[in-house]
Amino acid sequence: MHVRSGIAVSPGVVTGPALVLGSENFRIPRKYVSRDAVDAELHRFHLALDDVCRDIHANEQLVSSQLGAQYGAIFAAHVQLARDPKLLLEIESLIRQQSHSPEYAVSRVLRKFAEQMQSLGDRYLSERALDIFDLEKRLLRQLLGESREELSNLTESVIILAHDLTPGETATLDTKYVLGFATEVGGHTSHTAILAGALEIPAVVGLGRCLAGFSGGETVILDGDHGQVVIDPDEITLSRVRVSQARNLRVTERLERLENLPAETQDGQRVELLGNIEFPEEVVHCTRRGADGVGLYRTEFLFLSGHREPTEVDHYEAYCRVLAACGQLPVVIRTLDIGADKVPSSMQHQFADSQNPMLGLRSIRLSLRNPPLFKTQLRAILRASVQGNVKVMFPLLSTLLEFRQAKMMLMDVMEDLEEEGIPFHRNLPIGMMVEVPSAVLLAEEFAREVDFFSIGTNDLIQYTLACDRSDPAVANLYRSGDPAILRLIQMVMKAAEKHQKKVTVCGQMSSDPRFIPLLLGLGLRSLSVTPHAIPRLKEVIRNVSITECERISRHACELDLARDVEHFLLGELSRLCPDLIS
Ligand code: PEP
Ligand code: MG
Repeated sequence: MHVRSGIAVSPGVVTGPALVLGSENFRIPRKYVSRDAVDAELHRFHLALDDVCRDIHANEQLVSSQLGAQYGAIFAAHVQLARDPKLLLEIESLIRQQSHSPEYAVSRVLRKFAEQMQSLGDRYLSERALDIFDLEKRLLRQLLGESREELSNLTESVIILAHDLTPGETATLDTKYVLGFATEVGGHTSHTAILAGALEIPAVVGLGRCLAGFSGGETVILDGDHGQVVIDPDEITLSRVRVSQARNLRVTERLERLENLPAETQDGQRVELLGNIEFPEEVVHCTRRGADGVGLYRTEFLFLSGHREPTEVDHYEAYCRVLAACGQLPVVIRTLDIGADKVPSSMQHQFADSQNPMLGLRSIRLSLRNPPLFKTQLRAILRASVQGNVKVMFPLLSTLLEFRQAKMMLMDVMEDLEEEGIPFHRNLPIGMMVEVPSAVLLAEEFAREVDFFSIGTNDLIQYTLACDRSDPAVANLYRSGDPAILRLIQMVMKAAEKHQKKVTVCGQMSSDPRFIPLLLGLGLRSLSVTPHAIPRLKEVIRNVSITECERISRHACELDLARDVEHFLLGELSRLCPDLIS
C-alpha cells in the first residue's frame, strides 16, 4: 500500500482503477492479451524495440559526426540499456507468463527499474533513471503509434494519476468516466484545481514525484477532502473509506436541506452568495443550490475546451444559455483571461517565447493588444446584455490606463451596435478584478471610475507574496490568511466604502468556510464561490452574527503570521459550526 499526501482541491472520496498518464499523456491501461496472441505480442514488442534501437543508433551516428564520438557514446549507452538482457527478460516474462500487453509490461518494468535507481539518492543514478523514462517513452510511442487514445474517449471508470494536467486537458475530461484525478504538480488555486471543483470531481494536486513506479490498473483511493491518495490499499483502509463515504453522504444530505433558506446571519444580515462558473452547463450547479446569481463567469474556457477560436455566435450562445438559466439574477461576465497557464491550443505559438508567462502578456493585456479578439467578445456580451442581468468585468488590471482603454473599446463596440441597430444594454455595470497589488494601492482612483470591484485572491496572493499559485514547492507561502492579504482586503474595502462601490470576493478564499467570518467581519456582503461550496458556506453564514464576525476579524488582523491567523480562524469555525468541522 502506497500513501501519498498532496493538496486537497476538490472534495469527495472515490475508489477505482488507476489510469496513469506518462509525461506525454500516454494512456497505459493494464490490458491482457489472449493466450494464443502472446507470440504475436512478443513479436510486436521486438519490432518496436528494433525500431527504437535503430532510431537511437541513427542519433548516435549523427551526433558523433557533428560533435565527436564522445557525445555519440551517450546514445550507444542508451542502446545498451534498451538491449539489457535482464530488463528484456522481465518484460518478456510479463507478456508470456502473465499475458500483459507489451505496453503495460514495458511501462511497468522500466518504471520500477527507474524508481529503484532514483530511490538510491545518487545524483548520477537519478540522471540515468531519466534515460530509462526516455526509453519507456520511445517504446510506448512505437507500440501505441496512432492508437494513442484521447483522454476524452474513455470507456470505463478510472482515477487519473498524472504528472500534470493542463487546464485544457482537464476541461475536456469525460466526467462520466473520470471518478477523480491526482497530479504530482499543482497548487491550491491552479486553474486545473479550480476546474476539478467546477466539474465536481474529487481531486488532489501537488503530490510530488511519486508515480514513476505505477503503470495503471492499480486500485486507488482518492480522498479529495484530506488530500490523500492511496495506491493498492489494504482491506482495512478500504473499509475505512466506505465509512467515510457514508458519513460524507449524510453531511451532504443535511446541507442540501439548507438550499432554499437565505444566506442570512443570526442578526439578520443578508449575504449575497454567487457562483463561479467556467462553462455554461455549470450554471445549474449554482441555481440548484440556491445561488444568488453568477459572480464570476470565466469565459476563457470557451477557448480552452475547443479546438478553434470561438466566433461571436459561439460567445453569444454560451452567454445566452447562462442568462436563460439565471432569469433576473445577476451574471458577471469576465472578459478573457487567457495566458499564463490558460493557453488555448490555437494560441500556443504566441506564448512559446515567454520566459515568465505569469508576468507576461496575459489577460486584459492580451485583449487590449488584440482588438479583433476582444471586440468579438465584447459584441457578444453586449448583444446578450438584453437577455438578462449582465455585468461585465475586466481581469488583471494593473493600471488605470488599462481600465480606460478597455472601457473605450467597450464604448466603440456600443457605437458599432448602435449603427447596426442591434439592441444592447447601454448602462450595463462595468467592474474590475482586483488581483494585482498595484490595483489595491490605487483602489481609491479605480473606485472613482468602476462600478464594482471583485477581489481575485487567487492571483492577489500569488503576486503579493511572489509565489506561483500552481507550484507545490511554495504552497507553504501561498496562504489566504497571510496578514498582507488581510491588509490589502481592508484597503479595498475602505476605498470602496468611500465611493460607495460594491465589493465581492471571487477567489478561492471565499469558498473556504474558515474565512467566512473574517470576510464578513471585514465588511464583505457578497461572495462568489465554487458552486459545490454554497451549502457549507450558507451553514456558516447562518450560524454567525456580524458582531461576532467583527470581533473575529479584529483579532485576526492583529496576528502577524498566516499560520496563526488560519489556526485562529479554524478554532472559531469549529466553535461556531461544530457539525461542519466534525
Ligand atoms: C483570482 O485570481 O482570484 C480569480 C478569481 O481569477 P482566476 O482564478 O481565474 O485567475
Ligand atoms: Mg485571476
